[in-house]
Amino acid sequence: QAKDVGKNTTRIFTRDLNTRIKRRMSLEESLRNAIKNEELEVYFQPKVDLRTGSMAGAEALVRWNHPDKGLIGPDEFIPLAEETGLIIPLGRWVLRNSCRTAKAWMNHGHQCMQISVNLSPKQFTQKDLPQMVGNTLSDTGLPPYALELELTENMVMQNVDEAINTMHRLSNLGIQLSLDDFGRGYSSLYYLKRFPMNELKIDRSFVDDIPSDPDNASIVNTIISMGRSLNLRVVAEGVETKEQLSFLKKNNCDQMQGYFFQAPIPALDLLRLLQRGKSLIFS
Ligand code: C2E
Ligand code: MG
Ligand code: MG
Ligand code: MG
Repeated sequence: QAKDVGKNTTRIFTRDLNTRIKRRMSLEESLRNAIKNEELEVYFQPKVDLRTGSMAGAEALVRWNHPDKGLIGPDEFIPLAEETGLIIPLGRWVLRNSCRTAKAWMNHGHQCMQISVNLSPKQFTQKDLPQMVGNTLSDTGLPPYALELELTENMVMQNVDEAINTMHRLSNLGIQLSLDDFGRGYSSLYYLKRFPMNELKIDRSFVDDIPSDPDNASIVNTIISMGRSLNLRVVAEGVETKEQLSFLKKNNCDQMQGYFFQAPIPALDLLRLLQRGKSLIFS
């Protein structure tokens, strides 16, 4: 009898696994076609300057308009893209699309807007990354200073000497570099000092519940003053309340991003927001 149970379990397990593999394969297949079928769209979320209340830039965040499943967020397909290598053409597409969009904003007179694009670990280790970025800039006509690439700590700590070398090659193009989700990974101050970075983005988990959570409040303050002494711009992500806003303003954080100001929106909507030209903080 025990044998029978075992058999059934195996059968159930196999069927389960098959379904999972099939589902994954079909997702992979449709993701493969997504670029070609123009199902991907880059949304943009404003980065707000705390002193002026104006938009200093925007982060590019990819979305997938799936024909059956509707709008899918990056957390649901970036990992699959990373595993399968699809992230390379996908990332290239996002970068090109974002640079083209930022150039269009410039042409509308919004010269000060900087565009931030996320890189994945696999993209970061591609030998031709700096060359690809350089080509994208010259093809789209976007000046290098208007582009920022977001890296994460774990990505750059993987093989740190090589990573520093890549960061220098990127930075030599004249673009800026940001360390995203800062505080979640394991980079040390020793390395932070050696990285050719321009910006630190405080991870959302620390911005949560400030100032009422005293631990988070002091972590955020420590990151802000550390950033200041290393000459880095400090950005807080995930700002949702006016209490968070006033805490960050009081403590001289440079920029912030979050639903309190604006969720990520399509490029044309962001342009409309820019053209209204109102302060995002006091309006
Ligand atoms: P991230 O780079 O840390 O981006 C910030 C995420 O926080 C975005 O989620 C954004 O929509 C969300 N967010 C913004 N403000 C708030 C807020 O006030 N509250 C909360 N709870 N969340 C907020 P999203 O768009 O789902 O992206 C998730 C992650 O997917 C990104 O995290 C990034 O790591 C990755 N990702 C997005 N686009 C790309 C891409 O083009 N390439 C790569 N490699 N990764 C991407
Ligand atoms: Mg990011
Ligand atoms: Mg982040
Ligand atoms: Mg994140």
